[in-house]
Amino acid sequence: MSIGTLKVISITISIICIMFIGILAMLYFTKRRVHTKENSVYDALIISNAVCLVCEVLFYLSGFEGNDVRIIDFTEKLYFTFNCLWMFLHTVYIIVIASDAMEIKIANLNYNVKKLFITFCTFFITVFIFILPISHKYEDGILISSSGASMNFMFMVCMILIIVNILVIFIARKNIEKAKFKPLITFVVLIIIEMVLNTLGFKLLLFTLPMTLVTFIMYHTIENPDAKMLEQLNIAKDQAEKANNAKTDFLSNMSHEIRTPLNAIDGFSQLILEEKDIKVIKDEARDIMTASQNLLEIVNGILDISKIEANKLEIVKVEYEPKKVFEELVKLTQARIGEKPLEFKVNIAKDLPLYLNGDYVRLKQIVLNLLTNAVKYTKKGMIEFNVDIVKKDDVCRLIISVKDTGIGIKEENINKLFTKFERFDSEKNLTIEGTGLGLAITKKLVDLMNGKIVVKSVYGKGSTFTVAIDQKIIAKKKEVKVKEKEDNNLKVKGKKVLIVDDNLINLKVAERLLSTYKITTECVSSGFDCIKKIEDGNKYDLILMDDMMPKMSGVETFKKLQKIEGFDIPVIALTANAIAGMKENYLKEGFNDYISKPIDKKELERVLKTYLNDK
Ligand code: ADP
Repeated sequence: MSIGTLKVISITISIICIMFIGILAMLYFTKRRVHTKENSVYDALIISNAVCLVCEVLFYLSGFEGNDVRIIDFTEKLYFTFNCLWMFLHTVYIIVIASDAMEIKIANLNYNVKKLFITFCTFFITVFIFILPISHKYEDGILISSSGASMNFMFMVCMILIIVNILVIFIARKNIEKAKFKPLITFVVLIIIEMVLNTLGFKLLLFTLPMTLVTFIMYHTIENPDAKMLEQLNIAKDQAEKANNAKTDFLSNMSHEIRTPLNAIDGFSQLILEEKDIKVIKDEARDIMTASQNLLEIVNGILDISKIEANKLEIVKVEYEPKKVFEELVKLTQARIGEKPLEFKVNIAKDLPLYLNGDYVRLKQIVLNLLTNAVKYTKKGMIEFNVDIVKKDDVCRLIISVKDTGIGIKEENINKLFTKFERFDSEKNLTIEGTGLGLAITKKLVDLMNGKIVVKSVYGKGSTFTVAIDQKIIAKKKEVKVKEKEDNNLKVKGKKVLIVDDNLINLKVAERLLSTYKITTECVSSGFDCIKKIEDGNKYDLILMDDMMPKMSGVETFKKLQKIEGFDIPVIALTANAIAGMKENYLKEGFNDYISKPIDKKELERVLKTYLNDK
């Protein structure tokens, strides 16, 4: 075949390729695409493929003896540049799909593709056009081959990149989908065919033909924007449906859980209204109190779960005395056991460090959940509470286990134990109060504290829950405090307290509670009235201030009070805004103290003792 014919074939193939890649680019770029790392690299691949083809045609057209050598050199070197660039981008592409398949994160690669493209484009242009020389050989006035450092460099870069491609595919061969091998195999086969043709004397440059075919195959095998878009839409739809179902489940669960204690409160209140026997009234009032406590536990549980799910639950590390924490837990459990025929064994490690650093409030919550469950789900027998430790340097691993001889958990349920709202053996547990939130919260808290929780249980025989949590040891001697003689008597009779709350029932509850201490109370239902009372010169020993009030909040009222000359009455935030961290917020605002609603009598007494007791 004559050189002229070969040249015509080459140009024709290149022009067909240009048309082909042009249509592909039009199809690809006019479609809505999902923004993935793969897509960003593919964008650049199509562009460099198209530019490379144009340079190739220009080079063929200019490659005749007698034409300006600078133009021939320039078009050929530009062609080399985009050849190498395409090969380089192809390698990046392979690395991206391999890293995705192997779940290795390549940070910010999708944002850097543009930068990568520009940097390497500049690099190749500099090397090929300005540094490395090239020389040409002509036959019958037609350029038939090129040689020189520029040509060698291009071959070297392409060979290295092809080897890297093959290596990456080989490493990730098990993870990458089979379809993704197709473009690379096509590429390697076509390159080999072209090399053979070249050595057989068919001097066709045509490196761009395999390149174009690979770009085309990639569009179908890996890059299917429509399919990807649909896939992502489906995933998003599924997630939205799941979230919606979870919300509905949550609401129906909660409605049921909240109605149970409410039913008791409502029912017993109606009975009390008609009852004359004071003993029966007191009994029923006690039942109302128990139901209210349950309701409060449910609300706190919901708050905890919602905070955990919103990633808002923080572990607040402070210094604490572990011995005190465990002793308190023992007392609380003994109170829960009450009259139940349960033996309660306690073994707390003797060498427990005096001080540890950690979130003891959450630690207490974790252990109390386990101990409470043990009491709830054990009718008779024994509950064993063990605290062991392992010390290493300044870290103390607390190994806490709670063992019971209760109803036990079926093996198939153990895995579901830490899922929220899961309760088992409902027919057996009909009379046991619970929401199925306790263990879900416990597990999340243990995870947040980087600990571990394990369960062993034999159905019908009993269960053992073991928690391991690391805490930092604080090395210091126990402070020997000169014990102040504590005054346990409340001497608050005749003191005057102003209660500020927009809710009349809340005012009534606070007023009644305070009246039991013979305290004189005055009630106002807004911040404005409170300020007026003070401005009118009324004197009080203490102000209990609700926060969430219409028009003027408790915090705003408090700020205004502080501006009144000579104002020095202690103000206590008394609010149902009781999520974790609120106490600290109110104290930061300047309130003297904080009591959450519903009012705990012990808390109220603590505050009264602090601010009203006669010295
Ligand atoms: P709750 O006790 O409020 O139902 P939890 O999340 O604390 O919720 O517990 C979930 C379920 O796990 C319980 O309903 C009970 O069926 C089972 N369970 C938990 N602790 C024990 C235990 N010590 N013995 C037997 N079953 C238990």
